[in-house]
Amino acid sequence: MVSRTTDDYQDMVTAGCEAVCEPAFWAGYDRKSADGFYDYFCQLTEHEPKRAAKFGLAHFCWLCINPKESEDMGLAKDVIDLIPKFIDKPGVLGIGEIGLNKNSRNELKVLEMHVEVAAKYDQLILVHTPHLEDKLKGTKLILDVLKSDKRIKPERVIIDHVEEHTIKLVKDTGMWAGMTLYPESKCTPARAIDMLEVYGTDRIWMNSACDWGISVPLAVPRTMLEMKKRGHTVDLIDKVAYQNPIQFMRQSPKFKLTA
Ligand SMILES: [Zn+2]
Repeated sequence: MVSRTTDDYQDMVTAGCEAVCEPAFWAGYDRKSADGFYDYFCQLTEHEPKRAAKFGLAHFCWLCINPKESEDMGLAKDVIDLIPKFIDKPGVLGIGEIGLNKNSRNELKVLEMHVEVAAKYDQLILVHTPHLEDKLKGTKLILDVLKSDKRIKPERVIIDHVEEHTIKLVKDTGMWAGMTLYPESKCTPARAIDMLEVYGTDRIWMNSACDWGISVPLAVPRTMLEMKKRGHTVDLIDKVAYQNPIQFMRQSPKFKLTA
């Protein structure tokens, strides 16, 4: 939401959304210093919840340095050192979106540093998987890191941006799978529904790609309409779009809906 307007909040409330869950992500440009991230974390934990509240939406967030900016190890360490200062803020659900972008050695080290913070502070984990052709390789590397740390409970991790060739791999680990909806490229509503029909509706959620690029904040409600058109029941649509995210997020004691 840091790159969206209040119109998007109004649209989401009108469509029946009750809460926004916003990951720390790449803002469309590389931030040059940890100071930039300090301000960003203030925005995510203090300013954005207030803006969302004006429209009747609960706002939750995740903290990290995202994989796209984590090539500089010095910067990554400085940013990760900031996280404990913000971790107890009311809307912070966990660490994310961490993961890999180009599957580089440094990205992998930074992923491990984040997992350490999540384990130490008992946080939920939200993971970004690469959008490039090596999504499968990146997903496998990420799952290996998470599975090798016995402190990390699989049901407290969501692996986001799954596609047809990674969803089964993720679900087999006991972790959650996130399908990120895009209007044209990557995962469209039709592909997401196909995956639900093949792999079932347990431990899976859908989210709207909602950032500085072409993206639709209402992608989830639109996909719900599409599911209705395909003949899915109201209960099943409610499970995927509403009950599942609640089931995952309420593993954090901070997650509460006002409604
Ligand atoms: Zn991502």
